[in-house]
Amino acid sequence: MNWNQPVCEQCWITEHAIYALDTRGVVGVKLPTVVRGNDVEVEQCCRCGSPTIMGVYVRIDPRTVPYPKEDTPEDESQHVRHGHSLRSWG
Ligand SMILES: [Zn+2]
Repeated sequence: MNWNQPVCEQCWITEHAIYALDTRGVVGVKLPTVVRGNDVEVEQCCRCGSPTIMGVYVRIDPRTVPYPKEDTPEDESQHVRHGHSLRSWG
């Protein structure tokens, strides 16, 4: 199982928003560490399933997220879902 799971910008913001203690709501966001080489890769957000090119990963137990990224083909048979594969996106 792969414990480094991609997340999209929106899910990162939702999870790492900094809230004011008064009624102002969200006042900031904790910045992620972006992992990006020369090639931008399309990945699937482990939380909402949307495609993301953010290059942001969280270390999380893949069994606790709805769209875990599999790192071994053997696991595919156990986790087949509609719309799970992004391979055809090119
Ligand atoms: Zn997401």
